Amino acid sequence: MFLKRIVYFSRKTLHLYLQSSTMSTFTSRINMVTGNNEWIFVDDDDFDYNQELARSAFADMLHDHERNIQYEQAIIKTIQTLSKSTKKIHVLDIGTGTGLLSMMAARAFNQTINSSCSLRITACEVFQPMAKIAKKCIEKNALSHCIRVIDKRSTELDLENDLQGDRINIIVAEVFDTELIGEGALRTFSEACKHLTIDNENLRIIPARATIYVQLVQSSFLQEFHTLKNLSETNQKIKIPDGCRHLAGNTIFDLNANEIKNYIRPLSKPIPVFDFDFKSLNDKTNFTKEKILENIQCDYDGQIDAFVMWWNLDMDEQGEIQLGTIPSWCYDDKEKEQNVQWREHWIHAIYYPQQPKIVKAKDQVSLYCFHDEYSLYFDVGISPFPPKSFTPAFLSRSAVAGFNNDKRRNKYIQALEKSFSNPSINRCLYIGDGLLLPLLILEMYPNIELIILQSSNIHLAHTLEKILTNSSKQLNYRIIPSLDKENIDFQTIDMILSEPFFTKSILPWDNLHFYYLIQQYHHSNIKLFPSKARIRCIALEFDNLYKIRSPVNQCCQFDLTPFDEQILQASLNVDATIEPQSLFEYSSKKPTLSSIIDLIEIDLEKISQKNKIETINLDIPFNVDGICNGIAFWIDYQLEDNIWLTTGIENENDSWANYSKQGVHLLLKPIEIKSGMKLSINAAFDFQKGQFSFNIIS
Ligand code: SAH
Repeated sequence: MFLKRIVYFSRKTLHLYLQSSTMSTFTSRINMVTGNNEWIFVDDDDFDYNQELARSAFADMLHDHERNIQYEQAIIKTIQTLSKSTKKIHVLDIGTGTGLLSMMAARAFNQTINSSCSLRITACEVFQPMAKIAKKCIEKNALSHCIRVIDKRSTELDLENDLQGDRINIIVAEVFDTELIGEGALRTFSEACKHLTIDNENLRIIPARATIYVQLVQSSFLQEFHTLKNLSETNQKIKIPDGCRHLAGNTIFDLNANEIKNYIRPLSKPIPVFDFDFKSLNDKTNFTKEKILENIQCDYDGQIDAFVMWWNLDMDEQGEIQLGTIPSWCYDDKEKEQNVQWREHWIHAIYYPQQPKIVKAKDQVSLYCFHDEYSLYFDVGISPFPPKSFTPAFLSRSAVAGFNNDKRRNKYIQALEKSFSNPSINRCLYIGDGLLLPLLILEMYPNIELIILQSSNIHLAHTLEKILTNSSKQLNYRIIPSLDKENIDFQTIDMILSEPFFTKSILPWDNLHFYYLIQQYHHSNIKLFPSKARIRCIALEFDNLYKIRSPVNQCCQFDLTPFDEQILQASLNVDATIEPQSLFEYSSKKPTLSSIIDLIEIDLEKISQKNKIETINLDIPFNVDGICNGIAFWIDYQLEDNIWLTTGIENENDSWANYSKQGVHLLLKPIEIKSGMKLSINAAFDFQKGQFSFNIIS
C-alpha cells in the first residue's frame, strides 16, 4: 500500500497515514532479552494517543511567543485588507492542532470594522485525537459557531462535501519542520491551491513565501558527528577505508545550533538557496529541484566542514511580517542575539559536504543545492559535482561522536592496558554494536584472540568486516553469528567485553542488553568489561528544555486548558516518564541544584540478580536556591578498578557527554526550592526486564 507520509509525534511512535483517511499506529518498545527495538502494531481503539501527545513537543510550539505573535499579526493584516475588497472570507486552517490559528482568524475578523463582509472558517486536522482537542478548545473559547473542524488531511478535503462548494480565499497553515518541507508542506499547499481555492490573484496564503538559507562553516565539533577518524594518526594497522567513514549517512543532523555556537566558525555570509512561493508551487517535477550556485564567496581562511541551514517566512504578501529560524550568531543586533526565541519544534539543520574543503578568504566556490518533496541536500566544490547521494544511516550521529571522542577513547585505552596486563587473558569475546573497542583491541593487542559476535545490524556487520579486511597486517579475530556452542566454547573464554552500545537502544540502560545476552553462558572465571554499572541522577534547572512539557494554559489570550487537561490525564497513573535527550544541546543553571546521586549499582558479574527488582527510596538534597524542573539520568560503567566511563557527566558542572543520550524527567510542575530542601524519590531497576523506573514522592 502506498504510504503518504510518516508523521512523528514522538521519537517512539509512528503514525502511518495511509492513502485512505484511516490511521495505523505502531509503537516502539525495546525488548531487553532479544535487544530488538520492536514496532508493535496497536489497534487505534486501544492506543493511548494522549500519552503520545504528552511525549510530543506540541506544547513547546504553543510556548513559542514569537511564532504565535507573527502568525496573529499576519492573520489580522490579511483579514483587515481582504475584508475591504470582498464580501465573503473563507479561511482554511490546515493542520489546526488546538485550533489556535482559526481562533486568531475569528478574533481578527470580529475586530475589523466592516459589517458587509461575512466570515467562514474551516479547520482541518489529520491527527484525530488532536482534532478532538481542537473542537474542545474552540468550544471553551465560545467560537464553535464560526469554526468548523474536520478531522481529515487537507489533501483529502472535498470541495463539494466538506466545503459546500465555498472556495477558500485565505489559507493559514503551520505545517513546517526544522527542514521546512519535511512535513509535506509543498504538497499540502499545492493541492489546496489546485482543488479548493479561488483564483491565485485573490487568494492569500499565510505564510506567503519561504526562503531557505545555508552558511558555510568550519567546525571540528560538527565533523566529530560525521566522519569516523582513525585510531591514531601514525603507524596503525587498522585504517578506516573511505567508504566506511560516514556511517551516519548524509541525512540531516538537527540540533540546537545556538547552544553550540562557540564551536561553529562561519566562513561565508548566509546564502539564500531556495525560494518557495506557496501559491505557485510546481508539482510537475514531484517538487524536486537542483541547482548550482556559482561564485559563493568565502570571507575567511578555513575548512568547510558543514552547512548550517535555516529558513525564513514572509508571513504576509508584502513580506513585512517575518518569522524564521535564523541562528543567533547571524543577528547584527547584540540585544536580538541574546533574546533569540528558544524553540525545540524548529531547530537548525546541519548537512555535510562529501569532502571537507579547505578555502582561503575571497575564494569563490560553487554550491550544489537539491531538494525533493521532503528533504534537502548540499555539497560544495568545483563543478562537475558528483551526483547527489542520500546515503543511509547505519549509526546515529551521537554514536559516530562516541567513536571519535578522545576522552572516551583514552578511557578505553587505559582500561585495556590494565586488563590485558594480566597474562592469563588470552581469548576474549566482544559483544555489541560499538566499533571502537574491537578495533582498539585488535590494533593494540596482537596476542589476544578476539571473537566478535556479529552485530544484528547487518550493515554494521559488513562495515566491521570491511574495516578489518582493509588492515595492513593479519589480525587475530573471528566473527561468529551467534553464541551457540558450535560457534564458541565459553570454557575457553577469559574475558567478555562490550562498550556497551547497541544501535537499537533508546534510553541509557537499554545498552545493558549485553548483560542479558551472556547471562546463560557467563561463569565465574570470565572477567567482564565493564564489570559494574551505576545509574546516577542530578536535579537541574533547565533554562528552556522544561518548556516542552509545561502546561500552556492561555496562549495569546485563548484558553487552551482542554489541551493541557488531556496531557495531564495521560500522565497520571504511570511512572514518571524518562525521555532520551542529548543534554549538551540544552543549557541549565550552574552550579547545579544538587550533587550527582548514585541510584542503583548493578554488579554485572553477579548473575543471581536475574529475577530481582531493586528498589530504593532516597532524598535528593538541594545545594542552591532555584527552580527544579528536570532530573537527568545516565549510566557510568566501571571498566577497571578505578576507571569509570560516564555517559553523562563525571562532575556536577561538567558539560554533558555528546556521544550518548541521557534520560530526562521533566517535572510537570516545577518546584521552587531553597538550599537545604530535599526531594524524596523512589527508583527501581527490574533486573528481569532491564527496566528502570522512577517516581517523585514529595
Ligand atoms: N496550527 C496549529 C498546529 C500546528 S502543528 C498551531 O499553529 O498551533 C501542525 C499540525 O498540522 C499537526 O497537528 C499535524 O497533525 C497537522 N497537519 C500537518 N499536515 C496536515 C495536512 N496536510 N492536513 C491536515 N493536518 C495536517
